[in-house]
Amino acid sequence: MMMLTKKMIEIRSILQMVGQSNALVLPSIVVIGSQSSGKSSVLEAIVGHEFLPKGSNMITRRPIELTLVNTPEAKAEYGEFPALGLGKVTDFASIQKTLTDLNLAVPAEQCVSDDPIQLTISSPNVPDLSLIDLPGYIQVAGADQPVELKQKIADLCDKYIQPPNVILAISAADVDLANSTALRASRRVDPRGERTIGVVTKMDLVDPHRGASILDDRKYPLRLGYVGVVSKVPQQSSLFSRGSGNITNAITKNENAYFSSHPLEFGPESHLAVGTTTLRKKLMHVLEQTMAASLQGTSDAIHQELEEATYEFKRRILPRRKPGRLQALLQGIRRILRPPPGARAPQGRARPARAGLAGPTLLEQTHHGPLPPLPEVDPLSSLPKSDPDSLYWHRKLDASTSSLTKLGIGRLATTVVANALQSEIDRLIEASTFANHPFARQAITDASQGILNERFYSTSDQVENCIKPYKFEIEVDPAEWARGRSSATLALQKELKACDGAMKTVETSVGGRRKLRDVMAFIDRVRNGDVILEGDSASAGAGGAGGFSASLLARGREALFLRDRASILAMRLAATKSPQCAKPENRKYHCPEIFLDVVADKLTATAVLFLNVELLSEFYYNFPRELDLRLGRHLSPEEVERFAREDKRVRGHLDVIRRKEMLELVLRKMEGLKGLEGREGGRMAER
Ligand code: GDP
Repeated sequence: MMMLTKKMIEIRSILQMVGQSNALVLPSIVVIGSQSSGKSSVLEAIVGHEFLPKGSNMITRRPIELTLVNTPEAKAEYGEFPALGLGKVTDFASIQKTLTDLNLAVPAEQCVSDDPIQLTISSPNVPDLSLIDLPGYIQVAGADQPVELKQKIADLCDKYIQPPNVILAISAADVDLANSTALRASRRVDPRGERTIGVVTKMDLVDPHRGASILDDRKYPLRLGYVGVVSKVPQQSSLFSRGSGNITNAITKNENAYFSSHPLEFGPESHLAVGTTTLRKKLMHVLEQTMAASLQGTSDAIHQELEEATYEFKRRILPRRKPGRLQALLQGIRRILRPPPGARAPQGRARPARAGLAGPTLLEQTHHGPLPPLPEVDPLSSLPKSDPDSLYWHRKLDASTSSLTKLGIGRLATTVVANALQSEIDRLIEASTFANHPFARQAITDASQGILNERFYSTSDQVENCIKPYKFEIEVDPAEWARGRSSATLALQKELKACDGAMKTVETSVGGRRKLRDVMAFIDRVRNGDVILEGDSASAGAGGAGGFSASLLARGREALFLRDRASILAMRLAATKSPQCAKPENRKYHCPEIFLDVVADKLTATAVLFLNVELLSEFYYNFPRELDLRLGRHLSPEEVERFAREDKRVRGHLDVIRRKEMLELVLRKMEGLKGLEGREGGRMAER
């Protein structure tokens, strides 16, 4: 049993997957010959089936890397196209059809392609062999073929007949060997005839004497010799064997009949090698020897490749192991959920310790911003007096309070927090390597959105329910009041400062304080009725009035508004600071801004509490689990691979790892072969 070849063929297939370097290619037998020299018939006789594309116009356009695997224990014969993933094809007619289709797929203008078709045939009747069938040489391109076809075929064959490959040069007996394109090509690359086997087909078509003299060739001596064959499928048997049954028997029977009918030339006494069976044995023997001879060289080359792959592996992959990217994302999310230093911890019901405080910062931010501009009031005198007992002011405050409590704070707060959370996650993804993974990106976004959507309504309902009591009655304790007082004071001070700033800007824009004072005094006089203008009032008049231009008057009105506003603010500031506003008892109508601040604070705190419990802690708890579900151990190995390969860099890493693993596997297998080689070598020497 040719164990070495079998193992080497196995290694050869693995190396094919590793690819690239020529040094990693184990020898194969390359079949060349002119068109119609009988090349296909020889290959089919070896395989025992008709499986190669036929037809008057069918030329092979791509190399076929044919691996024959002897399966002594099995009955089944089948072919496999590893690149196509068609599985085991037991019908050889469909193998023939697939090969024909693959050939036709090469565009005519490209003539031939050097992209090989890989085909493995497993059968108890085939020897372990690795053969490469190439397009047949043509003399002149046919009318419907491109003129460069001839050269392209020759170039393609030249590429494959390089060492360490064995050349199987097919020539027909009825053509003078001096004209054999195959032998001519082989002589160019193997001038001493050391790695070429000559096959002379169609021995039955010439006189036996002449046939014998061809095989005995002295003019073109080959160290591996010539073998004469009659590999044509006999007509009567091809009827029932075509495409399905094994044709080996029919061919050998026919062949034997021919050679044994000329015992003088081809009989046992003759030293000439004839017959397909002899050819098969020769091929196995030669391939085994060639493989054994290249074992050391290939093993050295693999060692070198492995060293490079290991270096690459260390360089690219080891330093990047930690932290896991998912881990990094989770850490990022933890960071945004972490309470800011000094924040008050909410009294949540469920998992309070895990809840963060993204809510308060966001909500408080909106609440403590500058006060909205006051509506432009008519002269102060038109308003009811500032009296804590006035019904007018009571209604005003009650309306403001209820517009706060009925704002729909549940929905509002949940939307703000959910949106902020989602955009933080988007930002984290963007900054992480997940940015290059459309699949992972989607999965992470879906995970967070899924939880946020799921929690949205219950959270906003909860918040809304819990603020319901405030819609009817709001009780304020002294501490709350004190906080509201300082916060309202601060807001009023800020606003007053802003007002002063705006006044300064107006002053500068009109060209000084005096000028502004004059125009303001004029408008005041108009308003008080001290000055009567003709036509429209001072506020109109495109050409101005009282010696002031229209734009100056507009500035003046702006300044008046600011002055009134500042005086209200100063008055309210004095009120909030006054002892009357120091305590909450029945003081809400005295100090409405403190009361409103307290209400807003209560609403915010309640919203924060429930956002923490209903949304954030749920999110915090479920998000890692959702991620795990979508990206973690529940992915199939194929999904993991697809996901990983989306990233160019990771793809590079994976290729390095795969390459390294394959090379290691091949080396282990080769080590095992070393002993085998010794034994087989000894056996071969005995033969
Ligand atoms: P390819 O073009 O080199 O692959 O040649 P084929 O194997 O297709 O053979 C060309 C023709 O020669 C076909 O008609 C075969 O039947 C015929 N042929 C092949 N081998 C032999 C043989 O040994 N004897 C005879 N008489 N015809 C053969």
